[in-house]
This record gives sequence, structure tokens and C-alpha cells, in this order.
Amino acid sequence: MDASREQLESWDRDHVWHPFTPMQAYAAEKPLLIERAHGCLLVDMDGREYIDGVSSLWCNVHGHRVPELDLAVRAQLDQVAHSTLLGCANVPATKLARRLVELAPPGLTRVFYSDDGATAVEVALKMAFQYWRQCRKPQPQKTRFLALQGAYHGDTLGDVSVGDLARFHHLFAPLLFPTVRAPNHYCYRCPLGLQRASCRIDCLEALEDLVREHHETLAAVVVEPLMQGAAGMIAAPAGYLQRVRQITRAQQVLLIADEVAVGFGRTGTLFACAQEDVVPDFLCLAKGLTGGYLPLAATLTTEEVFRAFLGRPEEGRTFCHGHTYTGNPLGAAVALANLELLQAGVLQALPAKVSRLREHLERMAGLPMVGDIRQQGLMAGIELVCDKSSKRAFPPEQRLGAQVCRAARERGVLLRPLGDVIVVMPPLAITDALLDRLCDVLYNCLQEVALPFE
Ligand code: PMP
Repeated sequence: MDASREQLESWDRDHVWHPFTPMQAYAAEKPLLIERAHGCLLVDMDGREYIDGVSSLWCNVHGHRVPELDLAVRAQLDQVAHSTLLGCANVPATKLARRLVELAPPGLTRVFYSDDGATAVEVALKMAFQYWRQCRKPQPQKTRFLALQGAYHGDTLGDVSVGDLARFHHLFAPLLFPTVRAPNHYCYRCPLGLQRASCRIDCLEALEDLVREHHETLAAVVVEPLMQGAAGMIAAPAGYLQRVRQITRAQQVLLIADEVAVGFGRTGTLFACAQEDVVPDFLCLAKGLTGGYLPLAATLTTEEVFRAFLGRPEEGRTFCHGHTYTGNPLGAAVALANLELLQAGVLQALPAKVSRLREHLERMAGLPMVGDIRQQGLMAGIELVCDKSSKRAFPPEQRLGAQVCRAARERGVLLRPLGDVIVVMPPLAITDALLDRLCDVLYNCLQEVALPFE
């Protein structure tokens, strides 16, 4: 079916309901219709190029139309596009499970596939719940979860229950299960009113107290290792994750590490947990797993958890969860190729790029409305404030973050803010020249949009 750009624009306006998008405002603007891409550039139907500054929603790793990844999909197409994983195996998903186990923190030997980040976490929540009913010394009262303020783990009702972003989650409160909530490590606006320079990561003490108090009913603690993403790129102080692991282990509570956003090199190492030598009980992976090509997710867990689900079929210990496209062979084939590329030089090249981004960000920190900058690897957030000394935020209706990103888009850089936090998250393979261009454009836009406020 051929269609002109005008037709596509009107069909988009008439039929496509975009996720997380205020549709009334969207319909009033000319849509950005991406037609193709090369490297780290996306190209619209007018042939205009845009730097993919948020890795197509935090998932792209090596850029677009990467010959090795394209080839992996094409070669798999000549074998089989899809077959079910329910009671049946396929070649790429089997190889990928083996590879993930080799690369993941030691002891995570079982791989349960699903389709996206939300399902990877949902699977971990349900497995943790079921584990406590079926483990050697069952503790069926362990049914609850502890998560952090500002947590985001996806959009299924289970994930929303452990999530804590007012604008995404609170509306659904009547549909959710209750979660124990611990203060997060938002040092710029410390929930405990402390200063990072002088605190002893006291928010960890609060978390520890909560875990101690509720350990008898807690199935698991859920965290986003090293950086809370959707909360506004909230970096964790060094040592935080390791301490959470110690606390959960001591209190016999499972640990779910949601590496959906931070996995696959994003924070500088293949997995974020490795930076603090942490082995969680569940490792949730998605987004970058396929290099940003296809929807595929995996929840890795231990033999200890897996064994609790064994027994004769009639004993009813089976994990009754699965999706039609689980373990899709095309996704698994491209994931294998993605891992190969990561290991073949992309990870080694990262430290230089991370420093380059850091230098750019340091320059931006001097701008009048830049309140705080948080970076972990090639993942950063720039928090805009009305007044630097009081940290006063802009009124939300000014949508300053959106204004900055709009200005950047007009100059060929695609960014998507989280409120007034500008996210910078380019593909790991971005060239120095494109990274410089992205940051220069952003610097200019921050200056320009700030002018009326000075
Ligand atoms: N967990 C985290 C930490 C995320 O950042 C996201 C998505 N941004 C998800 C889970 C959900 O992933 P998906 O959008 O693939 O469902």
C-alpha cells in the first residue's frame, strides 16, 4: 500500500494513539514521521536527519541499520521467524540463554524470556511471590514488595503497583496491590533533607529499617541499579546497591534488579550490578538486549529459585506465565549478534565516550537554569530549575523540558524529557563528532530557552 506523506500524516492523526502522549496537543502539531535511518541518525519523510539522542527510547546500542545486526535478522528469517517456547525450544533462544548465563553475574543460571521491560519485571514479581509458597521452607505470608520513591518498572498493573511516579501511576491506585515504599537516593532534593557531602547515605538506613520491620511479609525488594531512570535520572551513590544486597540477604528477602534501562553497557559495564559485585536473585533485561532492533526480554534467576518450581505436573508448581512471542527466534538471533558486537570493542571504547560526555555536561552545568547534572556511563539527566540557589522548579505548565527538546528537534537532535529533566542517552556507538554535535545543539538550546527567564 503506497501512501504519500500527507496521507500518512492524516492517518497518523486519525488512527494512531501514541503512548505517553497528550493526544490533543499532538494532533495540533505536524507529526515527525520517521522513514529510515543510518548509524545514529534517524531520517524523516522530508529527508531531514536527526541525531537519535535518546537511543529510540533508551534501547538502541550500535546505531541503526548495523550490517551485523541486519544480517543476523536476515539469516534467521531464512530459518524460521517464530515458533513457540511453550514446551518447545528454538535454536537462537537456546544459544542466547547460554550466552546470557555466561555473561551475567555468577549464579544466575536460569533464563525466562518475555517481550519487553514491563514483562521482564512482572515475571520477576510473580516468580518471587510463587517462590515463597513453594520453597523448601514455605513462607506464604511473604507476598509484598519494597520499592523506592520515584520507582518505574513498567506499565503492567504489577509493575505500576511497585512504581511510584504520580503522573503515571497514582490514578490506578484502586487497582494496585500495596507496596512498602522507601525513600530514594535523590541527593539533589534529598527526601530526608540531608546534603550528600555530609550524609552517610542515611536513606539506606531508612530502607534497612523498613526491610527489618517488614521482612516477614516481604517477598522482594525491587531496584533500578545505579540509576533510577524515569524518576528523572537519579544516580545512586557508590556502594548503595551493594548495601541493598547485604540488607536483603541478611533479612531473607529476594532482590530484583531491574536492568531494563541500565543493562547492556549503558552505565559503562555490560550489567550495572557488576560495578558493585552484586548478584541479585532476579536480573530483568530488555531494551538493549536486541541492540534496539526487536522486542525481547529476559528475567534471569538462580537454581535456588528455579528448583522451587520443580515437581510432578499435578503438584501445580509450574510457573503459569508466558507470552505468545516469548523467546522469538528473530529477537534472539539479533540479541546474540548484539552481544558479540558489544564484546568486540564497543564496551572497550566506552570510557573515552563517557568522559567526553562528562566534559560537555560540565560545561552545561554553568548555565543559569541547570540545577543538577547526573551521569552514569552514557546515561545522563540535566535537571532544569527556575532558581539555582533555592532549587525552585519551573511551574509544570511551562513545560520547559519539552520546550528545550522542541528547540533541539528543530536543530536536528531528537531528545525526550522527563518533566524538566533533559535526558541525554545516545547509542553507545555514537561517534565523537555526533556526540559533540548533540551536546553543542543542546547547550545552545538551553541558553536560548533560558533567555526569557534571565
Ligand atoms: N524498567 C525500567 C527501569 C525502565 O526504564 C522501563 C522503560 N523505560 C521499563 C522497566 C519498562 O520497559 P518497557 O517499556 O520495555 O516495557
